[in-house]
Amino acid sequence: MLHAREIVIATGNLHKVAEVRAIMAQAGWTVLALSQVGAGDLAEPIEDGTTFAENARIKATEYARVIGRIVLADDSGLSVDALGGSPGIFSARWAGTGDTRESRDHANNEKLQRELGAKAGSDRSARFVCAMCLADADGTVLAETIGEFHGLIAHAPRGHNGFGYDPYFIVDSSGRTSAELSSDEKNARSHRGCAVRAMVKLLAHLRSLS
Ligand code: IMP
Repeated sequence: MLHAREIVIATGNLHKVAEVRAIMAQAGWTVLALSQVGAGDLAEPIEDGTTFAENARIKATEYARVIGRIVLADDSGLSVDALGGSPGIFSARWAGTGDTRESRDHANNEKLQRELGAKAGSDRSARFVCAMCLADADGTVLAETIGEFHGLIAHAPRGHNGFGYDPYFIVDSSGRTSAELSSDEKNARSHRGCAVRAMVKLLAHLRSLS
């Protein structure tokens, strides 16, 4: 079924492209951004699913049908226990403001601090979740995976790597945030890293069917 070791990733988020590309390259897969297949200006499909998995499926199947190639899509976000799982699937535009990804991230992180208020310690537990879906050129779902990354929400930002909520996401007992991890360290532990590695295993299985 899968002949070329080449996959298009359906996201305009260059951080996600870089993370997925680095992991898949280790397994011999080439990950192409939408702009590399002339699809950089395509309108994004409406993500009206109620779960990360549903939204990943919407993105993968719709982009695959339009582009006519195998497409991998990721839907991800932060789920904070004390907030009943919010912002969840609404993570990207939770605060509802901002013209750029950076300004939206800033507003989202300010809202996160407001909502958590004086909560401390394990009352600030959270997880990143990443659902991935791989769709064939005709829009058929070929494989789906999910990964999680557990941590605590910091009171103040630390680190400059990554994106989104990374500067506030404490990942280990030394208090480092995921924005203080190198790309390799984040990929080795992150929700997206787990989901991509699971996808690579499924791809090997799909290839054996071809
Ligand atoms: P999506 O592009 O609809 O999947 O939105 C994902 C949103 O979740 C991003 O805009 C970030 O706010 C947040 N997010 C997902 N993964 C990460 C991550 O690895 N680090 C930091 N924030 C993330």
